[in-house]
Amino acid sequence: WKGRFAECRGGEIVPEDPDKRHYVGFPAMNGICAHLLEHDNIDVVLRTRACARYEPSESGRPWALTAHGDGRYLGEFDWLISGDRLSGTNNRADLRDANLLDFKAKVEPIASVPILVLMVAFEKPIKGLPYDGVKFDEKDGEFGALGWIARDTSKPGRNRDDGKECWVIQSGAKAAHDVIASIEEEDFETRRELVREKAKELLMNDFLSAIRKLANDDEAESTPQILSAVGHRWSAAFPLVSPSGDTYSNQGKDCLVDRDKNFVACGDYLGKLTGRIEGAYLSGRAAASVIINAIRNQ
Ligand SMILES: Cc1cc2nc3c(=O)[nH]c(=O)nc-3n(C[C@H](O)[C@H](O)[C@H](O)COP(=O)(O)OP(=O)(O)OC[C@H]3O[C@@H](n4cnc5c(N)ncnc54)[C@H](O)[C@@H]3O)c2cc1C
Repeated sequence: WKGRFAECRGGEIVPEDPDKRHYVGFPAMNGICAHLLEHDNIDVVLRTRACARYEPSESGRPWALTAHGDGRYLGEFDWLISGDRLSGTNNRADLRDANLLDFKAKVEPIASVPILVLMVAFEKPIKGLPYDGVKFDEKDGEFGALGWIARDTSKPGRNRDDGKECWVIQSGAKAAHDVIASIEEEDFETRRELVREKAKELLMNDFLSAIRKLANDDEAESTPQILSAVGHRWSAAFPLVSPSGDTYSNQGKDCLVDRDKNFVACGDYLGKLTGRIEGAYLSGRAAASVIINAIRNQ
């Protein structure tokens, strides 16, 4: 992603070293996974939440999977790989019949950090803003709830030929927490809608004032017309885990293994780079190594 980046430190905008590299999935974030899965020996079943049952037998494969919702039978498998810690939490059925008490006990206490996101489309580019991505620290107070803003249209594969421009605005963790805590509605759907509306309003206001502060003076007032804006809440955006142990600790383990049951768990809550794609990737590699070694040693 050949953009122009900056970081807000102590209220000051500091342009980033232009040689620092930035990577994004192409043409969209899921391009990374789609690429890895494109293989003759891999069958992919999309839009299906699998529920696993552990049924060891002398001849058969121990893991039987069905689809959540319609209960469709998905097949029997030698190994089960869990790529999402939320699968192991008590309010999810994914691993309820999997007899994985140790794993569930490890992931249940991991807290999640929520964040709010706004996606906004403008009629034409915001010309006066000299950056494509700016990172903020909400503790500064200078830019309100903002945590990160990105000119999505500047990323590879997202350029548009209709002249419109899309931005993604992300909140800091505290702002997200405050917004979510301020909504008292009990009905789940209504509550979710209210959070989305509030996220949209808050992030839009803070983004528009940030444009005025960050843009070149002569172009600051010319914010283009907004065509569409959608607020979103990521309830479990980042895991609150620390390899060093000051919050819930994963003890730096790259993956969790139950060798007796042919089960392995990976994800961004493991390893040393928690809450990041790099950490998730390294954890996935470690899980793959466990399985490859087990098969080689059979
Ligand atoms: C708004 C936002 C912005 C971010 N920006 C960055 C960034 O700029 N850089 C960065 O490094 N990281 C970023 N992250 C963090 C990054 O997205 C995560 O660290 C990474 O996606 C974690 O990968 P994962 O494989 O552990 O889990 P996930 O990406 O959550 O993947 C788990 C997958 O498992 C699927 N799944 C769960 N249960 C089941 C089931 N029972 N059956 C089938 N499938 C199931 C889920 O649907 C999901 O697709 C961001 C996160 C958010 C929310």
